[in-house]
Amino acid sequence: LSGSIKGALARMSKAMVVDEKVLNDCVNEISRALLQADVRFETVRGVQASIKSTVNLQALADGTNKRRVIHRAVVAELRRMLDPGKPSFTPSKGRKPASVVMFVGLQGSGKTTTCVKYADYHRRTKGFSPALVCADTFRAGALDQLKQSAAKAGIPFYGSHTESDPVKVAVEGVDRFRNQEGCDLIVVDTSGRHRQEAALLEEMRQVVGATRPDLVVLVMDASIGQAAFEQAQAFRQSAPVGAVIVTKMDGHAKGGGALSAVAATKSPVIFVGTGEHIPDLEAFDAKSFVSRLLGLGDLSGFMDKIHDVIPGPADDNTSPYQILEELIKRGNFTLRDLRKLFRAVQSMGPLGQLVSMIPGGLISDKFNDKEGQAKMKRYMTMMDSMTDAELDGSSSPKLMNQSRINRVARGSGRPVREVVDMLEEHKRMAKMMTKLPNVKRPNDINHIAN
Ligand code: GDP
Ligand code: MG
Repeated sequence: LSGSIKGALARMSKAMVVDEKVLNDCVNEISRALLQADVRFETVRGVQASIKSTVNLQALADGTNKRRVIHRAVVAELRRMLDPGKPSFTPSKGRKPASVVMFVGLQGSGKTTTCVKYADYHRRTKGFSPALVCADTFRAGALDQLKQSAAKAGIPFYGSHTESDPVKVAVEGVDRFRNQEGCDLIVVDTSGRHRQEAALLEEMRQVVGATRPDLVVLVMDASIGQAAFEQAQAFRQSAPVGAVIVTKMDGHAKGGGALSAVAATKSPVIFVGTGEHIPDLEAFDAKSFVSRLLGLGDLSGFMDKIHDVIPGPADDNTSPYQILEELIKRGNFTLRDLRKLFRAVQSMGPLGQLVSMIPGGLISDKFNDKEGQAKMKRYMTMMDSMTDAELDGSSSPKLMNQSRINRVARGSGRPVREVVDMLEEHKRMAKMMTKLPNVKRPNDINHIAN
């Protein structure tokens, strides 16, 4: 089959006119996607200029797919922009005295949640012994929120109900844990305001001055949009921000503001928040982030791109292209659909290009290597042990209770945990499916397909 893909690609690129128009159309399409993803206007203009100067269409060998070359150049440029050129401070396990990492950001950005996630992540995956300090004396309830969350995660905690000076509380908390036996990482939560107003920035300056953190992390909500640059800059001017964490990447927002935050603070994004729960923190991966930025653009553009990479509709209705088209038309996503999509995707051979183009990481890079392919196969085995009702259940199958999960595990000879993983993965994909912005109706898609 890969031979026929090659054939289709060759035909396609022959048909492609080698001129400025291809480049312009493609760059415009990508720029639209970036603007929709909240990438700053100035940044998009920079990408445009850079692509136009680096991609030399005339110089490309005959038979190269121009769009792919352009796409690749854009990806490279965006990845370059996400890399500030110097790594951030990383705490080292067992260090004495303990490293101090302070979290700053606007109110509601997710600081408190992320402090606990960050502490838990270091303990769970790297064996650190972290502690949490609440230096938010501004917002009522802040102390209890962190205290409860810390208790839930089983992480030592310091805060004060009586002291209203954040500098004092921060210093006391840091002092308490800094030389405490076994503690090697102190995470300090600070207060936020609704805007980056002077009082907040001054308070932050004082807390930083008094506690001398090894790392200041700026926490930003992915939905911040075009305001990201200015906001990050304001924080950077008052505190030595050394890393960025973008939260709420599980929602609608496409997180283009992260590019601005990197530019404004000259520091890297280290993690992204992907949910409200403590384990919902993922190490930042520039590659999948960029795919997301580009992939969440307008869907007809996406279909167009897919068309570049894989052959058009097959006669037997089984190309991933047609399956996706059908799903988009219908607007929901069952386990049966997932199985169908996996089958189609598996029959295609190497997926590199395709995977990165599927909107919102619908099929993530997770399925793109050898291990991923094996996982896909195991998922399909588990789905084979499901009943019709289970396969056709709604996108968030409440139907799948523990006894059904156990039955599927037994039937397929896979661990229960893996069945749960598969259901989670399906849920994530179904969620993506319903959140694809600017979904073109089938009519608009058809003229591209034909
Ligand atoms: P703070 O004011 O900066 O301390 O923000 P909080 O940590 O209190 O978070 C504000 C709200 O955002 C809470 O409802 C959190 O549960 C939610 N939140 C934080 N991070 C994430 C995330 O990554 N995804 C989602 N969906 N919600 C988040
Ligand atoms: Mg808070």
